[in-house]
Amino acid sequence: MKKWKKALALAGGMAVLTAALAGCQMKKYEEIPMPETAAKSSYGAEGVPAGEDRERKGSPVAGETLASTASSSREVESSAVKAEITREPAPAMEARDETVYVNATDLNVRVSPSSTAQSVGKLNRGAKLRRTGYSQSWSRIIYQDRECYVASQYLMDLAPDSRQTAAPTSASSSQGGEVGLNSDWKYAGYSKINSGKAILYKAEGENRRNKVVCVNAGHGTSGGSSVKTQCHPDGTPKVTGGSTAAGATTATAISSGMTFADGTQEAKVTLALAKVLKDKLLARGFDVLMIRESDDVQLDNIARTVLANNLADCHIAIHYDSTSKDKGAFYMSVPNVASYRSMEPVASHWQQHHALGDSLIAGLKGVGVKIFSDGKMEMDLTQTSYSTVPSVDIEVGDKASDHSAASLDKLGNGLADGVELFFAN
Ligand SMILES: [Zn+2]
Repeated sequence: MKKWKKALALAGGMAVLTAALAGCQMKKYEEIPMPETAAKSSYGAEGVPAGEDRERKGSPVAGETLASTASSSREVESSAVKAEITREPAPAMEARDETVYVNATDLNVRVSPSSTAQSVGKLNRGAKLRRTGYSQSWSRIIYQDRECYVASQYLMDLAPDSRQTAAPTSASSSQGGEVGLNSDWKYAGYSKINSGKAILYKAEGENRRNKVVCVNAGHGTSGGSSVKTQCHPDGTPKVTGGSTAAGATTATAISSGMTFADGTQEAKVTLALAKVLKDKLLARGFDVLMIRESDDVQLDNIARTVLANNLADCHIAIHYDSTSKDKGAFYMSVPNVASYRSMEPVASHWQQHHALGDSLIAGLKGVGVKIFSDGKMEMDLTQTSYSTVPSVDIEVGDKASDHSAASLDKLGNGLADGVELFFAN
């Protein structure tokens, strides 16, 4: 990078002129005229985002500031020379020589790094490019053998799935795909912890199903175990024991979950599996409502359930059981207790819950996941008690289960197969 600075010091002024006058050039030095610094406020101006993944570098989620998504580990040098010339904030551009992919449709290819610069072409999602320079806002790429510029936020390191990728959607562009609990929704008033936001991802492509699967990574709400919520909407007591005993009318709003035999927190593993499942479902054309994408989301079990009721076509809460026998996967089925099965909304939906649970177990079984007993266990859960869409708590293993990446991948395949089965029936 030292060489670059020297070359720049010599050629800086000329380069600005050259680029401004001549457009895309085969420049020999690492210099860049001033990029737009306001790209974040004009999200969408350079292209239509076609896919987002919060974990991929260079692919910020709508509404996030570019600064917050820029990799801090990147070595960035800026040009003091340039700053003097332009009297603008000095742009920072790193030399790169790497392959990147477009993650947008109609992404403008511009002759200089400015959203007002001449566009010499458009690129679509999946287009493979060689990037020779990078800044938070603009990337220099080779386009038709020339150096041109595209907005960095629409480039990613990994090739997007050729059929579809996730794109958060929301009425509020400043919030990306975040969705919160609407207090007008049925049963929302029973929730006590609901300041958090879920994230809705939409699949794209020819195989789009127009079905939203709520993927609820169990636990992960700090403070949730010290708050109580009503077990049943009608105030009747729980008919089975569980983490809260039968007969109770209130239960923990959301528990902290168990700890695996190897010391790993259940909440960490349910989150990892949820992310695996999200990607698989999106690839298969399902939209995904992710209840949680970090270690803490302030949404209790009722809030999560009501979000799913209103935004999803089914709800899958991912858990590992608190036994230590490596007994296998099962789902929590609706207790065969007349009073419970006749209580709304259970009465109208319990058979759908079972259909979903049975499908998921069949999917898991199909990929070779160990199944406990007949794949279900009766349990009076807050989730089930408030669900108005097919909804299950699935325990994919227990404290003794392997939770390696390979194991999560297998579980993800089984669950995704189960979702397909469910909607096919
Ligand atoms: Zn759990």
